[in-house]
Amino acid sequence: MRIKFWGVRGSVPSPLVSEDVQYKIKKILTRAIQKNVDSLEKIDGFLDSLSDFSYGTVGGNTSCIEVDADDKIFIFDMGSGLRNLGQHLQDTNNFKNQTFYIFLTHTHWDHISGFPFFYPAFFPQNKLILHSTIPDFKERLEIQQDSKFFPVSMDSMHSEKEFVKLEYSSSIKYNDAEVSNLRLHHPGGSFAYRLICKDKTFVYATDSEFRNLSDTFILNFSNFCHQADALVIDAQYTFEEAAQKEDWGHSSALAGINIAADAGVKRIFLFHHDPNRNDEDLNAVYKKAVNYHRMNYPQSDLEINLAREGMEIEI
Ligand SMILES: [Zn+2]
Ligand SMILES: [Zn+2]
Repeated sequence: MRIKFWGVRGSVPSPLVSEDVQYKIKKILTRAIQKNVDSLEKIDGFLDSLSDFSYGTVGGNTSCIEVDADDKIFIFDMGSGLRNLGQHLQDTNNFKNQTFYIFLTHTHWDHISGFPFFYPAFFPQNKLILHSTIPDFKERLEIQQDSKFFPVSMDSMHSEKEFVKLEYSSSIKYNDAEVSNLRLHHPGGSFAYRLICKDKTFVYATDSEFRNLSDTFILNFSNFCHQADALVIDAQYTFEEAAQKEDWGHSSALAGINIAADAGVKRIFLFHHDPNRNDEDLNAVYKKAVNYHRMNYPQSDLEINLAREGMEIEI
């Protein structure tokens, strides 16, 4: 099973701005002086020694994850990152004669705004099977492309589209791939998905609070994540913010780590990053999460990752 992150931000796209780039360059140059990089020959070695955070970025696009399993393309959420997935399929000439299995957690903007820009959706040779627990999700997507808000209607996207309404806590099977859902705690509702295929388990659980919830909810969620190979989880807030922003519908990395460590998850990916945090802030969130895990779960093998746009993993 291959997982690729096309959008990892929450709430609203938040691209790098010139000041961010300038700041990165200044830090790198300062480091180069400290490391006596005084010839062209030393540059490559110096660049290789830098952490990804020094020159790269976590990315500014909102929620969209591609999972390739059972020779199928699954897509979880259609945030602005979906546009880049479509662009990639176009660039690699894979944008026709495809079926896309799309699952929506909910219909907040940051999870659907990429749909009108998904290039493959415009070709009649493609089929999109869209899934949601929300009864009127087709109508909601149509409204997003009402002429008052967007110049191209959903009807003008000529791919074949099938809308599958999922029952709460149900599963749907496509050959060897099975996708289950679980309701999360989020304003307006959000749903986690678990994809199991050939002994590999991927769980996508974003836009959820994990504080002050019933024991039943925590137990159900823990069972849902049990021994998952990869868990993508809402980590929009710092621990301090999570304490202040009760009922805002998001979580801190630390809540996710508690659940993941108890559920025997193998790899956790902190996701749905706050648009106000820059790469350095997010690196600090990541380091704090790693320390918290080391201090509180010394026996746990959980691998902690910060989800980044363009990141690709195999489980
Ligand atoms: Zn969101
Ligand atoms: Zn939301």
